[in-house]
Amino acid sequence: MIFIRERNTVQRELILETVRSLHTHPTAEEIYGQVTARCPSVSRATVYRNLHQLAEEGKILHIGVANGPDRFDGTVSQHCHFHCKKCGKLLDLELADPVLPKPCPDCGHTVTGYELTFSGYCRECIPAAEYTKSN
Ligand SMILES: [Zn+2]
Ligand SMILES: [Zn+2]
Repeated sequence: MIFIRERNTVQRELILETVRSLHTHPTAEEIYGQVTARCPSVSRATVYRNLHQLAEEGKILHIGVANGPDRFDGTVSQHCHFHCKKCGKLLDLELADPVLPKPCPDCGHTVTGYELTFSGYCRECIPAAEYTKSN
């Protein structure tokens, strides 16, 4: 039992380390590919389960994107994202202004953060998008 627990911890650390080392906001499948390249015995189910646990614990971010698989982010400080509608690239984005919700005394909830993803076309995809439009 102790051995199994240790193995689980090692696998979990490897998964966390992999997410933190990739700055591309990888999908679970991409993380699985990287993890198994280093440790082939890790199962897909283990990777997926640990990713969701790590996200619940706030150690990584779990980002849902439109028309594509969910992404994961090792940077947990408050930041926004830009999602390219053509190639699916997800990039970090700085806000020009802070995001402030409208005060609503009746709601009584406490805002602790936000998830904000802007969408559009990345630098590589703009010409292609314009090409499609003119045809
Ligand atoms: Zn793109
Ligand atoms: Zn990010």
